[in-house]
Amino acid sequence: MPRYTDTHAHYFDRKFAALDGGAVGLLSSPDFLSKVAAVINVGTNLTNSQTAVDMAGKYPYMAAAVGIHPEDAQGLPDGTPLDPETELAALRKWVSDPDRRKRDKIVAIGEIGFDYHWQPMDKDLQRAFFEGQMQIAADTGLPVIIHDREAHGDSFEVVLKYPTVKGVFHAYGGSAEMARELTKRGWYIGFGGVTTFKNAERVRSVVASVDIHKLLLETDCPYMAPVPFRGKINHSGLIPYIAEVIAPLHGLTLEELAEVTNRNAEELFGLSAVLK
Ligand SMILES: [Zn+2]
Repeated sequence: MPRYTDTHAHYFDRKFAALDGGAVGLLSSPDFLSKVAAVINVGTNLTNSQTAVDMAGKYPYMAAAVGIHPEDAQGLPDGTPLDPETELAALRKWVSDPDRRKRDKIVAIGEIGFDYHWQPMDKDLQRAFFEGQMQIAADTGLPVIIHDREAHGDSFEVVLKYPTVKGVFHAYGGSAEMARELTKRGWYIGFGGVTTFKNAERVRSVVASVDIHKLLLETDCPYMAPVPFRGKINHSGLIPYIAEVIAPLHGLTLEELAEVTNRNAEELFGLSAVLK
């Protein structure tokens, strides 16, 4: 059975505590390890980014991404507001030293972007964080993990503004045309559990149109569990359910899909430099 790279997971999330054995039990279970080649544990603010890094230190197959998500940019879950200048300076300091980056197994800035779904929404504040982090990516050479929810036009504009930065649009919800414009510029497109949803014909048609050499698999766990686990706690061990939907859309076997998407993840994130 092939093993896959989960390019987008949030293993610091408290939801995993509800599992038998919690996140720790899951992340070392033989069944999980038989399906997972590598995982990127993605932070959404600097506090849980540190937790993501600490966890990556414990698992040989796990790397970390550190950054500030557009929702967290508007204030942490407990209501604490974040000051862009202070946060961006701290992030820059953290990722600017290549030795520290390697020690912390940091392979990307993420997740960052725009979220125009949740209210109240402060577009200017989201932009200050997004562009500030794109600039850090440009200066350090790190790739980025983009969260673009109902903000396709504005997100694409930011991509054009930082032409040296490469990355992935995770849980992609945009058009086939925009995906083509992104992949043409060296960007990657991430797909996860939504691909398996009954009403997701449009997403599957986008999946089928995307250059296979620019396609990444992800879970966004603990959220977005694939069918038939919809609504349950998601995890990287469920990636085969996503692969089973995506592989035939590209006329590939599961082995071939795993091989090409693992290689894509390696090309973008350079995982082998930090994983054992
Ligand atoms: Zn996420």
